[in-house]
Amino acid sequence: MNVLVLNAGSSSLKFQLIVTDSDRIERSTDVRLLRGEVEHFGPEAQIAIHGESSRKFTAALPDIPSALDFVIRWIASDQSGVAEVQSPSDIHAVGHRVVHGGERFTESAVITDDVLQGIEDCAELAPLHNPNNIAGIRAVRTLLGVTAPQVAVFDTSFHHTLPEHAYLYAIPYDLYPRHRIRRYGFHGTSHRYVSYRYRVLRGLTQEQTHVITLHLGNGCSVAAIRNGHPIDTSMGMTPLEGLVMGTRSGDLDPAIINFVCSKENVSSREVETMLDTQSGLLGISGVSSDMRVLLEKRATNPRAALAVEIFCYRVRKYIGAYLAAMGGADAVVFTGGIGENSAEIRSQICSGIEWTGLSLDNTKNETFSGTETLISLEGSRLAAYVIPTDEELLIARDTVRCILGEPHPS
Ligand code: ADP
Repeated sequence: MNVLVLNAGSSSLKFQLIVTDSDRIERSTDVRLLRGEVEHFGPEAQIAIHGESSRKFTAALPDIPSALDFVIRWIASDQSGVAEVQSPSDIHAVGHRVVHGGERFTESAVITDDVLQGIEDCAELAPLHNPNNIAGIRAVRTLLGVTAPQVAVFDTSFHHTLPEHAYLYAIPYDLYPRHRIRRYGFHGTSHRYVSYRYRVLRGLTQEQTHVITLHLGNGCSVAAIRNGHPIDTSMGMTPLEGLVMGTRSGDLDPAIINFVCSKENVSSREVETMLDTQSGLLGISGVSSDMRVLLEKRATNPRAALAVEIFCYRVRKYIGAYLAAMGGADAVVFTGGIGENSAEIRSQICSGIEWTGLSLDNTKNETFSGTETLISLEGSRLAAYVIPTDEELLIARDTVRCILGEPHPS
């Protein structure tokens, strides 16, 4: 099936066109025909396409529907060079990354009117994200009609196995049934993908899979996976909790919010925006949210060095906490832009936790070149791997499975 995978955001639309079938187990048999993004919706939106040849252009695309219309027409045109799609009807299915599935969506779902309503019901839990996903779904309905069934793959659903003691906050209990305030967790597609690849690499069953997965990108989260299922994760009711991220604070004392409101004479909404967009690596360093820039500057800029140290320290703390929560693990897996690309950060995170049984193989860590690799020494009691994430592939496969009505794999 030719599956168009979409990730619709407030100012950008990311897409990939993937050929996959449900019986394709190994990633090498899937074919990625094209990927790209439309950024900065407006009179001069920027479009980048990466396929056989890379293309960049600008066009007036003010919103998600116009961007999607452009992308679908372009894929079906001769210019794209995609022989498999001669007309929009050759797009057989569309898979959407949907950020919040609340408690209802414990697995991916074919989008019916009822499912769409369910995604709308979750919008108050993810007001910055779900409305864009919904706009993408509606736009596909208008542009492709019923010829292309659509599937929603939720960031939250992999974490539905969290036990009550891990997902409940220690606040008055009634707030949970009344307002659904609890930990949901995010990046589920990535944690699920890399834990699955880890299991395949080591030839383990799901029951035998005890691993801590570290998704370190712009957004960062950790999952504690026991017997193949998450038993805890660092992001909470929203993606703000947990690790230090590019611009998000992660964990903090909730009393800080009111304190900042009164001291700086700002509203709680403004403080929340500050915690979301001006904190984390950017907030501490005052330089950049991009780890590459901080690593470059840290020799001469003490605050850049401090941001990196706080980032690594927080990850280390979570590894220790999750080892305790899980009663031990067999491996940690690094993924995401930082986790996959920075040997320095992987090394700094792992330094000082040799007591866990983790001995990094420095040569392997430094020479990692994009393929799934063991980066700890043979015989290390706690192993370390780098496994590049591939959320789009997992979304494409889930899309096919859901449409064919095949059982949801774990
Ligand atoms: P997202 O969370 O938005 O999916 P990514 O997983 O693509 O983001 O991660 C993007 C981040 O990865 C960048 O902001 C940058 O900080 C980091 N990154 C990418 N390459 C490197 C590198 N070589 N060294 C350190 N950090 C890197």
